[in-house]
Amino acid sequence: MATTCTHLGEARILNTDKDYCEECVKSGSRWVHLRLCLSCGHVGCCDSSPNRHASRHFHETTHPLARSIEPGERWVWCYADDVMAGEITP
Ligand SMILES: [Zn+2]
Ligand SMILES: [Zn+2]
Ligand SMILES: [Zn+2]
Repeated sequence: MATTCTHLGEARILNTDKDYCEECVKSGSRWVHLRLCLSCGHVGCCDSSPNRHASRHFHETTHPLARSIEPGERWVWCYADDVMAGEITP
């Protein structure tokens, strides 16, 4: 069953200068890719990373949207709907 995301209008923060996962740095872990929370600006690591801090951030805060901040990537993932929500328009 196809789900459509209705959260995209809630996005507040679209960009960040941060290029590390704070929680991973604190615990001395490594990450694979980074995701930016579009509700509060939290930067966490992706589900391919051992600690999955972006996904954990959603479970703690229910902030639904996170974009990839990997170079050249603009897609937005919705954790609440478990779908690709769209892309950031530059
Ligand atoms: Zn959604
Ligand atoms: Zn992390
Ligand atoms: Zn957040």
